Amino acid sequence: MKTLQCHNCGAKLSQYTYKCEYCQSVLFADSPLSAENKTKVIQAIKGWENTLVAAKDNNDSKVFGGCLVIFLAWGAISYGIYRFNNSQVPYFIVGLLATVFFVLFGAIVNIYEDKSIRQKFNQSLRREMDDYLLSINCHKTDFKNIAFEVLEKDSWLYKVLSDF
Ligand SMILES: [Zn+2]
Repeated sequence: MKTLQCHNCGAKLSQYTYKCEYCQSVLFADSPLSAENKTKVIQAIKGWENTLVAAKDNNDSKVFGGCLVIFLAWGAISYGIYRFNNSQVPYFIVGLLATVFFVLFGAIVNIYEDKSIRQKFNQSLRREMDDYLLSINCHKTDFKNIAFEVLEKDSWLYKVLSDF
């Protein structure tokens, strides 16, 4: 999450509250939410981001397993070429394969990370967020304004919020 800074006194704030802890200025002024609910929303945002990070970590271990299989296949192919062929050309192929696998690895991790996060979001988190915002009577627009203020651009929740 971002380091919040007070618009009024410029102090860097150590915690995510709706009010500056030094000068008491209200940080998210243009929403009809009560102060108490703003604090609740900010806490909830933090929790939801953690939920997505946990989903990503869980998925990463699966992707790692898959890539290990690819890597072992590459090792077996390389060994086969080394064992049964002495010309220089196969070494070039081994190197080429290594490059291809390396690029594939990066692509697979990226695609699956993104996919697993969106899946988690659509399967359960979206509903949980809807229900929660409804329960504290927080409009989606207000919620998004606070979320975009509080979250880093590269955080997972920030990325899925455009679909929310
Ligand atoms: Zn302040």
